Amino acid sequence: MGEGGTKSERRKRLPSFVRSVIASRAVDRRKKVHYGQVVPIEEVESIFGFINSVVRLPCICRQATVGSEQRYCYGVSMVSQEQSQFTQILRAIDASYLTGPDTSGLEELSKEAALGSLRELEKKGLCHTVWTFITPFIGGICNCDRSDCSAMRATVTAGVPVMFRAEYVAGVNPDLCNGCRQCMRVCQFGAMGYSIAREKVVIDLGKCYGCGICRASCTKNAIVLNERSSVPLAAHAW
Ligand code: SF4
Ligand code: SF4
Repeated sequence: MGEGGTKSERRKRLPSFVRSVIASRAVDRRKKVHYGQVVPIEEVESIFGFINSVVRLPCICRQATVGSEQRYCYGVSMVSQEQSQFTQILRAIDASYLTGPDTSGLEELSKEAALGSLRELEKKGLCHTVWTFITPFIGGICNCDRSDCSAMRATVTAGVPVMFRAEYVAGVNPDLCNGCRQCMRVCQFGAMGYSIAREKVVIDLGKCYGCGICRASCTKNAIVLNERSSVPLAAHAW
């Protein structure tokens, strides 16, 4: 990832049309192998309805950006915990295998414990994303923010999208919104503004990724997620 940083610095010095060709080819490649999509908590819950095993593991982005082990990533599988390859790896490595890989960062969790922990991360303002490991196979759920997650920075800041938006966009009920602006603090996508004249927040539908993190922070229940396809201004923004 260190080398990636150097490459990215070099890329910034290239003419813009060359940058856009490189970015588009990189994105096409990523879509075939390892691509993400923002998912609100209800879709995380749906995914947990059909998976059978979960392992929490260290986030490679935070290792690079923060420089320490932070367990924000969840490997998910439809096989049972017993049959899970993670479990088999953990069990296959015995004490005599002293030079083997360090698996201390792999934690088996029950689905309930994992979901509880994902809900807590949402309250802290982290955005859930689901990832393919060789598309279309889903292998993990991550919890991202723009300061520390390389994938989110690539998508939102560098214009090299490696994740789709969610199937939803946020909407504010002006009758319930009291203009406290708490939701604006947690939006990782800069999709919220404040109307001084109306004393309410407003959503920029062109920027909203539909993560629902603003909704989780609103004590007035003033934010809902609407189906993206039903909102003409956002229906084709992915
Ligand atoms: S947190 Fe809720 S009440 Fe406060 S500004 Fe946002 S939508 Fe309005
Ligand atoms: S406005 Fe809300 S739903 Fe849309 S990107 Fe920001 S936090 Fe997520």
